[in-house]
Amino acid sequence: MKRAPLLGLCAYNGGGGRIRTHGRVNVNSFQDCRLQPLGHASTFRMSFASFRNDACMRFVRGLLSYTNALCRIPYNGGMTDEDYMTMALAEARRAASLGEVPIGAVVVYEPIDRGTRKSLAAPRVIARACNLRESTKDPAGHAEFLAMKQAARELDAWRLTDCTVYVTLEPCIMCAGLMHQARVSRCVYGAPDSKAGALGTLYSVHADSRLNHTFAVTSGVLAEECAGELKRFFAERRGKK
Ligand SMILES: [Zn+2]
Repeated sequence: MKRAPLLGLCAYNGGGGRIRTHGRVNVNSFQDCRLQPLGHASTFRMSFASFRNDACMRFVRGLLSYTNALCRIPYNGGMTDEDYMTMALAEARRAASLGEVPIGAVVVYEPIDRGTRKSLAAPRVIARACNLRESTKDPAGHAEFLAMKQAARELDAWRLTDCTVYVTLEPCIMCAGLMHQARVSRCVYGAPDSKAGALGTLYSVHADSRLNHTFAVTSGVLAEECAGELKRFFAERRGKK
């Protein structure tokens, strides 16, 4: 069978803006595959340039199991809520490595035409942050709060319209409040927070029609993994005491 040696070249932005090649997979055919329009290596490279390590390796592993895996990946620029949550989880792990409660967040920007509701550009990650409350001694040092501030600097605007905030734990009142203030279009979170959750658990800030902005919420994305990071962190901390 003829091989298409370049299909499956996968790269990610390893920080510092440099794109590093992470894996190259030979496949025999990509007919009937939803990735076909991306079947050119350079397009591929572009599409996956903003992946972090975890998401990229997950993708390479998917490629290795060949066509079935390729067909699973939706053709929308290649990224799903789960993929972005995986990036947020990588941030949560970074928090744990700093001795912080493991919560991570990323902000994805996708400009939408107000009239047609059609996408004007491919979604891109414009901010990522982890919880830094202890190291910065900042009561506002929550992951999604810092990520939103970063996103505002990136867009040079306080309005985060057309932004989706991905965060591993349900936002608190403060962070849900900032989402309201920043006019985000959507929040996707992993684990619910029974003690402080303000997007559905204790409060529903996103859906309060008395406020002048409401926004969509998707909950429970990779909830077990997100909660698992927290459980492991607190179990280890208890073990140390
Ligand atoms: Zn918060």
